[in-house]
Amino acid sequence: MEGKKVILVTGGSGLVGQAIREFVENEKPVDESWIFVGSKDADLSNIEQTTVLFQKHKPTHVIHLAAMVGGLFHNMSHNLDFLRTNIHINDNVLETSFRSGVKKVVSCLSTCIFPDKTSYPIDETMVHLGPPHPSNFGYSYAKRLIDISNKAYFQQHGCLFTSVIPCNVFGPHDNFNLQSSHVIPGLMRKLHQIVENGEDKFTVLGSGKPLRQFIYSRDLARLFVWVLRHYQDVEPLILSVDEKDEVSISQAAEQIAEAFGFSGQLLYDTSMADGQFKKTASNAKLRQLNPDFKFTPFPVAIKETADWFKENYSNARL
Ligand code: NDP
Repeated sequence: MEGKKVILVTGGSGLVGQAIREFVENEKPVDESWIFVGSKDADLSNIEQTTVLFQKHKPTHVIHLAAMVGGLFHNMSHNLDFLRTNIHINDNVLETSFRSGVKKVVSCLSTCIFPDKTSYPIDETMVHLGPPHPSNFGYSYAKRLIDISNKAYFQQHGCLFTSVIPCNVFGPHDNFNLQSSHVIPGLMRKLHQIVENGEDKFTVLGSGKPLRQFIYSRDLARLFVWVLRHYQDVEPLILSVDEKDEVSISQAAEQIAEAFGFSGQLLYDTSMADGQFKKTASNAKLRQLNPDFKFTPFPVAIKETADWFKENYSNARL
């Protein structure tokens, strides 16, 4: 019989990491011990610090979430930083996992790393079939290299290092900073200020037309735990809501306005960049492997996130 699993979650202080922590703290699995680490515990772009972290915790399994992450505008101005930092973090985590005999690593790619010019829906076989969107090429190529590394570790050493590909994530503990946030937390932060100031105009950057699939961090957390326990393939797995649940940025903005009780006017600043128009991903492989999984309805997830943000404003990442 397998002994107790020791699962190290890198990026454990972030949006996805905190959602996984909440899930396993509720579930209390007896045969698993979970350790959540953030950059204060070790700078994973530094190999010595990574080695010391692994020696301290002796993980048997790793969920690797740590990454330099940002929204469209932050990516566009810092492609080199996103490329180099993430290459270092990923190489250090995978090599240290290999050297310390970790049995399984689940790393995190993203649907925004797929080829810019592609056919839809995107599936797991298409990660490397063309250049990514120029706005975030640094982040994208660093992420794609995780999949290359996973295949190489398997070929050369037989390691079960795999990856998942989430669509856009949102939820409690997100980064709500106006400069570096993703679209949903960015809009929530902005609208919160507008409501506080008693203003009646809410301006969304861009046309509002791009389409996105958004996954609630609490749903993603449940899927991550399921992947860790049950998915045994090196090939990546897309973790996304269904294609029919794709929404436009304007629909997301309207939902957020409703969650904040905002009844003023929504405006679109079309002088600002839109980014990729869509990146519709297929979750057919996930649906086949885990057919009973139920996603939280988008309006419910937006409302819970907005309520969390309002209640935790003083401690939120602003
Ligand atoms: P967050 O920005 O919320 O969290 C990032 C985490 O990485 C934090 O715990 C942070 O630590 C840690 N981290 C960053 N740099 C370092 C470093 N040098 N050394 C150690 N730890 C570091 O990210 P998310 O939770 O949103 O993302 C988790 C994963 O999911 C990432 O790999 C991301 O690429 C991927 N992803 C995210 C999507 C999204 O929409 N958010 C979409 C698809 C994929 P600390 O906070 O302590 O500094």
